[in-house]
Amino acid sequence: MPDGQELLQVFDLEKHYPLGSALFARPKHWVRAVDGVSFSIRSGETLGLVGESGSGKTTTGRCILRLTEPTSGRIVFDGVDLLALRPREMRAMRRHLQVIFQDPYASLDPRMTIGASVEEPLIIHRVGSRPERKVKVRALLEDVGLDPGFASRYPHEFSGGQRQRVGIARALALQPKFIVADEPVSALDVSVQAQIVNLLQVLQRRHGLTYLFISHGMAVVQHICTRVGVMYLGKLVELGETEALFERPLHPYTQVLRSSIPNPDPEAGRERIRPQADPPATAERIPGCPFHPRCPYVMEECRVQEPPLLEIRPGHKVACFLATSA
Ligand code: SF4
Repeated sequence: MPDGQELLQVFDLEKHYPLGSALFARPKHWVRAVDGVSFSIRSGETLGLVGESGSGKTTTGRCILRLTEPTSGRIVFDGVDLLALRPREMRAMRRHLQVIFQDPYASLDPRMTIGASVEEPLIIHRVGSRPERKVKVRALLEDVGLDPGFASRYPHEFSGGQRQRVGIARALALQPKFIVADEPVSALDVSVQAQIVNLLQVLQRRHGLTYLFISHGMAVVQHICTRVGVMYLGKLVELGETEALFERPLHPYTQVLRSSIPNPDPEAGRERIRPQADPPATAERIPGCPFHPRCPYVMEECRVQEPPLLEIRPGHKVACFLATSA
């Protein structure tokens, strides 16, 4: 698919979990982990999803891969309706959609050599003969900047950054088109984070990859993403080109996240915007705008009506009465 065309479209995605109900009883409360999220990702781009813990960004990524079954919605990947696929068809499709996890140590089997871990997806999808797979594993390790001779070693022999490189090699094994990178650098030292982010960018260019990059770190998202979606309590509250969103964030919640980025210039004195309260419990259904209990600019209508996500400039959407009435 040529760059710039929509590779993935997500329509009105919902994932609700029942809360604390007795066995066989109808649940009284639901956690709306993802609550009507729609967006698309163009081929070759990196879309960032940011938000605090509990915002629904990881669940959105898992639903796209069908590692978690959505409650409702539609997910179209390369023209195929993923939620209409049977389990067997989805397993075959999964070679095109891969994931890089946050904790590379937890995602690698400590009893398997890293060569075996990288080879495993090739075996599952019956790719190549044994000697061909061994050659492929060495090439994959080289691709992510590791010595191919490391194939016979075990995960505990590697640093966090090296283990994440192994996780990336494993994700690349089946030559996917699309990768969900779920907090891929959050568990790493700051100096190593930059190396892994640069590697992901190099690999994107080399292999024509498309990324959904999930992170709670705004600085890293600003560096790697083409566009950014901001999630709050299961909803997308702002979506736009990275530069526009960071230069002039429109939603107060985006402004809060943006102001948390450390400014390297102490003279610049960026004002730190603080929310009015702590995040609510995720089971709490908030009437009106979900951010209103914490919003420093709350108005009367915000308490009773939920603002829709509206496009207020080409490619820039926001769900806030303040921004849409300006
Ligand atoms: Fe704040 Fe109102 Fe905008 Fe919600 S709609 S973010 S409460 S100003």
